[in-house]
Amino acid sequence: MAVKVYSNVYKQEIPLPKNPLRAINSYIILSEDRNLIIDTGFNTEECKNAFMEGIKELGINLSKTDLLVTHLHSDHSGLASALSKEGVRIYAGKIDGKMINQMIKREYWEKYEAYKNMFDLERDNVSFEEHPGYKFSPKGPIEFIPLEEGNVLKIGDFSFEVVDIPGHTPGHIGLYERKHKLFFCGDHILDKITPNITFWGFDKDILSVYFNSLKKVYEYDIDLLFTAHRDMVRDHKKRINELLNHHEHRLNEVMEIIKENKMTVRDTASKMHWELRYDKWEDFPSAQKWFASGEAMSHLEHLVYAGQAQKTEEKGILYYKLKD
Ligand SMILES: [Zn+2]
Repeated sequence: MAVKVYSNVYKQEIPLPKNPLRAINSYIILSEDRNLIIDTGFNTEECKNAFMEGIKELGINLSKTDLLVTHLHSDHSGLASALSKEGVRIYAGKIDGKMINQMIKREYWEKYEAYKNMFDLERDNVSFEEHPGYKFSPKGPIEFIPLEEGNVLKIGDFSFEVVDIPGHTPGHIGLYERKHKLFFCGDHILDKITPNITFWGFDKDILSVYFNSLKKVYEYDIDLLFTAHRDMVRDHKKRINELLNHHEHRLNEVMEIIKENKMTVRDTASKMHWELRYDKWEDFPSAQKWFASGEAMSHLEHLVYAGQAQKTEEKGILYYKLKD
């Protein structure tokens, strides 16, 4: 069901069954000329049916509609290729859009075989085939119009400025509407849950990148933040401070774990606190083991970048230890 959340803006909660995120908020902005939809849900029948229900309900003509994908994750981009076939024009950030088309290939995911050893996840017998990013991504390449910071999309009375907010993914983008003080932020800032910050390669300290994007959005004049999961946010500054504090705690927790002995990514992740309904690491489903290890890794690498931890390697497995 599409719920009106602002003048000409509707929110559709697309259920994500068996996923701790529960649902994704897909936003629909109506105008007499062209409509804009922000994010879609997974490439599954359930998501597609829920998505199309709102389209029908609002009487939307898809050939007069654009889709903007805030970032590459499959719960946001999953239906893009299906919608493209219906005549929808697709916008995506320059970086993440390119990555979506790499991630539909099996070769992209084969590097996760190497990560499996690096992270010490061989012991858990996980497979990239159970990663939602692999399972639910669009099945064909997407032809998209690349966006970058400073581009403007005019939809009815709204003038949306594209803002680069990397961190949750390398090329996450948001939309800022200056006159109405609205910000569509995808997964950059979420209420109640914290956006997953994972490992995207050794060439960048992604956690620092994320912190900088939080501090960037902090400075914007915002009345309402349209988040991609759970509730929308009114006080963005308060939530940004909470997120920064959360990671500060996380870093302290990780430092404590690697203080005495060197630890693998998997062992660090298994000792961290997770708000999941499983009692022990062994019970985590494969996908959650990937997420937890990725989150541990972004914090471990941040400590290496900051000169606080050192990294060693044995038989391809990485070990981290706090410096004395
Ligand atoms: Zn995401």
